[in-house]
Amino acid sequence: MNQAAPKTQADVAANLALINARIQAAAKLAGRDPSQVRLVAVSKFHGADRILQALAAGQRSFGENRVQEAAAKWPLLRPNWPECKLHLIGPLQTNKTKQAVMLFDVIETLDRPKLAHALADAISATGKSPEIFVQVNTGDEPQKAGVLPRAADGFIAQCRGGFGLKISGLMCIPPAEQDPAPHFALLAEIAKRNSIEKLSMGMSGDFETAIACGATHVRIGAAIFGARP
Ligand SMILES: *Cc1c(COP(=O)(O)O)cnc(C)c1O
Repeated sequence: MNQAAPKTQADVAANLALINARIQAAAKLAGRDPSQVRLVAVSKFHGADRILQALAAGQRSFGENRVQEAAAKWPLLRPNWPECKLHLIGPLQTNKTKQAVMLFDVIETLDRPKLAHALADAISATGKSPEIFVQVNTGDEPQKAGVLPRAADGFIAQCRGGFGLKISGLMCIPPAEQDPAPHFALLAEIAKRNSIEKLSMGMSGDFETAIACGATHVRIGAAIFGARP
């Protein structure tokens, strides 16, 4: 037997087992049912070999942040894993909306009327209807995507009433240098008053806090796949 084989961060299955155990523990600590928290494994920048390791270990939900990259990787993988769910977690340009609607099961980054309009068109043109989450820029950061918190209620109403979109979740990425808890709480509050059930919040560094605040989806990349190449 190899003695002291270095524990590399390449061990996707072991990393997944550890993350799943931490999700369970965090949910229990918060008095929540662990099955109500879904792990979205963020596979951006990682190739099919790494993704296959996660699939073989039982992981079924994945996140990608670019349409082009997902379009290059996933059509080859998906036919063998029909129950797999693919989430778009990065900004969506309107000219890629149709492609995104064909490719993704969940689009988490709706944040402007022009995109809502394009999504509604793409859904009726393709007959596909991915789940749609609205991204909220909880930190009011000028460089970050997402609708501003003060505009969220109006935008959600416009998506529903004006464009006929079903909004089933909210997503946020808190400012890097701040305590994420108030941002997660703000997202949960906006969801509650708009009767939205799903909350995509929490990444490798803060998912336990997010679960305590009600996350239904945590998006975890580095802690599963290691540092991005
Ligand atoms: C990359 C990314 C993640 C995963 O971040 P990690 O720190 O690697 O867990 C989560 N959400 C979004 C929107 C991302 O772009």
